[in-house]
Amino acid sequence: MGRVGLGVAASCAAATCAIAAALVARRASARARWRRVVALLREFEDGCATPTPRLRQVVDAMVVEMHAGLASDGGSKLKMLLTFVDALPAGNEQGTYYSIDLGGTNFRVLRVEVGAGSVVTSRKVEVTIPEELTKGTIEELFNFVAMTLKEFVETEDGKDEQRALGFTFSFPVRQTSVSSGSLIRWTKGFFIEDAVGKDVAQCLNEALARSGLNVRVTALVNDTVGTLALGHYYDEDTVAAVIIGAGTNACYIERTDAIIKCQGLLTNSGGMVVNMEWGNFWSSHLPRTPYDISLDDETQNRNEQGFEKMISGIYLGEIARLVLHRMALESDVFGDAAYNLSTPFTLSTPLLAAIRKDDSPDLSEVRRILQEHLKIPDTPLKTRRLVAKVCDIVTQRAARLAAAGIVGILKKLGRDGSGVASSGRTRGQLRRTVVAIEGGLYEGYPVFREYLDEALVEILGEEVAQTVALRVTEDGSGAGAALLAAVHSSNRQQGSI
Ligand code: ADP
Ligand code: MG
Repeated sequence: MGRVGLGVAASCAAATCAIAAALVARRASARARWRRVVALLREFEDGCATPTPRLRQVVDAMVVEMHAGLASDGGSKLKMLLTFVDALPAGNEQGTYYSIDLGGTNFRVLRVEVGAGSVVTSRKVEVTIPEELTKGTIEELFNFVAMTLKEFVETEDGKDEQRALGFTFSFPVRQTSVSSGSLIRWTKGFFIEDAVGKDVAQCLNEALARSGLNVRVTALVNDTVGTLALGHYYDEDTVAAVIIGAGTNACYIERTDAIIKCQGLLTNSGGMVVNMEWGNFWSSHLPRTPYDISLDDETQNRNEQGFEKMISGIYLGEIARLVLHRMALESDVFGDAAYNLSTPFTLSTPLLAAIRKDDSPDLSEVRRILQEHLKIPDTPLKTRRLVAKVCDIVTQRAARLAAAGIVGILKKLGRDGSGVASSGRTRGQLRRTVVAIEGGLYEGYPVFREYLDEALVEILGEEVAQTVALRVTEDGSGAGAALLAAVHSSNRQQGSI
């Protein structure tokens, strides 16, 4: 070998060394960045932790806030609103009723046949509310609602008969009677300023009259109340209802003498359904992370609906996106596609659920979702696992907090098996309790339901948990409102509560 050859060999060796060194350095920094991602994941997991003792603190805080909200208006972030529903269906209601269910992503029109011990939704249409109508005027929104109902009614036999309408309007309303009430404020992304303080039943009646419809609102209810009415119709042990859909809320049957802020409130039944508006519940025991604060900053109702923002469908996907975005900024796990994670609300909760549900060995569904919906191609398996883990943490916290909320209601009613042995028991036996439940998130996401059930058993113990049944009511919020329209229309039969 000549001198030239030696020189070439030496410089080749030097180059190889340099490349190797660069590779080692790059691997080391890749490892460091991955460690950073893992640290962020751990930090998030710790921040979201809901061990049983913490859930019990949330339960107790819920009970305290329920008492405070019942004691005075403004006494708590829980509004504990009167619904004026003091009679639930007795079972002898009859007739054909319409109902409108407005309060989230979709709005539904139902025709409901009530009679012979059953409530049947005989027809239903579901319409997505155009985004601009959620931010315009109340007249525009209700004209759209009335026109949709009109199209619905016009294809029916007996379209000219006067019909009672159950109006499910799932935003906080200060009721003045079972068929009237003024909007306190908007939630769930709606923001129609001119409606706040107005009687929404009257506004809808005006829109119905403008469109020439012979239909009037006879029951203005919240989705929780409709769900409770239908649940109670089929099972008298139903004492509360919970919604876990776009938003979250709950109502339950309270004794009138416990509603201290309305002294002298008398009802034939001695009870009244109270709409908790639990989406606005807050307690220092809730596990709040920096991502929850970022999410809150993105919303139009900042500092409100704190419980809802940790639990419900509008928000869960977004919390996960915020976490993934931070990971993308602090590492290269998502490569050049990091930017695609920067747009708020691009990861919906159904996608989060699909990611968590993927149990294929190579997480192929996760790969597809990342590629198609977030435009993040070519993710290695460990990155897909990371994404699935983030979605799992968000889901688990939400479901467990919802369980704590439910136990809060049971505890307030003396049905959680704690306290004096007699309160939750009849003749030495634990009383059966049913909670009606509805909502796209709860119904469409089995993992969420499993986590919720698991937490109920943890908090209540096996024996008591076995006496508590969560029952899905199909179309409860809408059909239940029609049922209440039946109870409260002119041929009213006195129901019980
Ligand atoms: P609303 O009546 O308030 O419009 P729904 O009860 O219909 O709400 O629930 C819709 C919400 O449920 C959506 O916002 C969505 O986030 C969530 N959702 C629907 N289907 C699923 C699913 N399969 N998995 C997880 N979440 C879902
Ligand atoms: Mg609903």
